[in-house]
Amino acid sequence: MVSSITINAPSSTANLGPGFDVFGLAVDAFYDTVTLTKTKNGISIVTDDNIPTNPQNNTAGLVVKNMKNKFKIKDGIEIKIKKGIPAGYGMGSSAASAAAAAVAFDKLFKLKLDNNSLVEFAGYGEKASAGTVHYDNVAASVLGGFVIVKTNPLNVTKIDAPTNLRMCIAVPKLVVPKKKTKVSRGVIPKNVKLTDSIVNLSNASAIVAGFLKKDLDLIGNSIKDVIVEPARQHMIPGFSKVKANALKAGATGVTISGAGPSVIAFSKKSSNLKKISQAMSKGFTSTKTESQVVICKPSKGAVDSK
Ligand code: ADP
Repeated sequence: MVSSITINAPSSTANLGPGFDVFGLAVDAFYDTVTLTKTKNGISIVTDDNIPTNPQNNTAGLVVKNMKNKFKIKDGIEIKIKKGIPAGYGMGSSAASAAAAAVAFDKLFKLKLDNNSLVEFAGYGEKASAGTVHYDNVAASVLGGFVIVKTNPLNVTKIDAPTNLRMCIAVPKLVVPKKKTKVSRGVIPKNVKLTDSIVNLSNASAIVAGFLKKDLDLIGNSIKDVIVEPARQHMIPGFSKVKANALKAGATGVTISGAGPSVIAFSKKSSNLKKISQAMSKGFTSTKTESQVVICKPSKGAVDSK
């Protein structure tokens, strides 16, 4: 009888510009590792990382709590979390723990859930970090590749990302507020102009077409958001400079990764990725902010650690 299972789940970038709350892409920059072990009773969290250990406030804890109730599981469960993804930087850190927990729970109790159900259970965990359920990061982290989230009812489409797609992600060394996602959701306008929504809809549709046609230029040129990015960019010191520098160095499209403060530049395997990375770093340095730039590829989803 299997009593323990370990899953690795990748970091992810949400939105990709115009696809707010709808698009996600799994990236191989960082991974979280979650081990679920059956115990006598209760739910406990074991971690050396600086994240909440009360299951109610931890994204993996909330997933396990909800799935345990839903499937009337009597066993207790220990959740061991090893964070590889820095929390609070828009790299889908809270989502990866939730994704790994949902996939591990499914395997440990042989539930054989379909993809939409796994994403739905994982998305519930985001309540612990963002205050609301949202599926863009968890869908990417569970399934890998590029994902499109349709809600009511939840239906997630996964498209394999072009293998020559590359991203440079600049993670600024800023102190992020505890409830950053909640805060950055608060600055988004409640109403938008029809003309702006048309621009975003057109770019979002073109991004989907770009992934389907494996057209990196179409993807990059369509990473343009006239609604959320303008409202949030003031929260990232040096954003316009980082963006302009990356585009000048050859990136095809640049935007905020998820709720930020990381900035993501889309490019190709054949681009000068080092030049783009250095240009982004310089952009942050112009406002005396240090940053770590990671060059990454699309990732597969949450899988057994073996
Ligand atoms: P990210 O984009 O990195 O997920 P968020 O701001 O959305 O950033 O989430 C980070 C917040 O979620 C932090 O306040 C962190 O304490 C909380 N959190 C709860 N559970 C986890 C977890 N398992 N992993 C990472 N962060 C978690």
